[in-house]
Amino acid sequence: MSEAFALRSVAFSGRGGQGVRTAGRILGRAAFVSGFWVQDFPVYGTERRGAPVTSYVRFSSEPIQERGTPAWVNLLVKLDATVPYGGRAGLVVVNSSSHISGSKTCDMRSLGSGFMYPTGSSRFRMTGSWRTLRPVVDESRCKSCFLCYVACPEAVISLDGDERPIIDYDNCKGCLICKQVCPFSAIGVEVESS
Ligand code: SF4
Ligand code: SF4
Repeated sequence: MSEAFALRSVAFSGRGGQGVRTAGRILGRAAFVSGFWVQDFPVYGTERRGAPVTSYVRFSSEPIQERGTPAWVNLLVKLDATVPYGGRAGLVVVNSSSHISGSKTCDMRSLGSGFMYPTGSSRFRMTGSWRTLRPVVDESRCKSCFLCYVACPEAVISLDGDERPIIDYDNCKGCLICKQVCPFSAIGVEVESS
């Protein structure tokens, strides 16, 4: 790095499992090895897949005196359009297939394979052994509203031919979010016996 470079800040916003933390770390590392002064840090509450996550990166050719989360960033990258972001930004890039008023669109898939990864990678890890409580669907009460299917942070609920939810117990961690969101109390709980 040879030229003076004013402080820049970038925020990545999305959900646990999308790579929000990793994106901030990669950008921060890249800026560091390029000779900048760097801060990168994530902000999240309970650590779980699907929970809102924000990561921030500051970089500058001068030592950075600011601390804490930036009230304003030069660039905000929203990996999930449904996650609210509380700060302000100069430029916002949103990962969404919906048209947003005043925006220009870009198909992220056109940026090349390997850039975006599908959710549900837990499918390849047998995380069901972590579970102490088992969600069980009561088919007589289920109205096929799909809310559990949408809300499961592990993406381990699929729909059968009658559009009833089927839980993949090899990977269900037993967080019981599906039970919480079910408006028809159609998901009960059993204690795992082994
Ligand atoms: S308990 Fe429900 S929401 Fe949680 S991982 Fe299992 S199926 Fe998904
Ligand atoms: S949220 Fe409840 S009613 Fe809706 S599909 Fe799931 S189990 Fe059925």
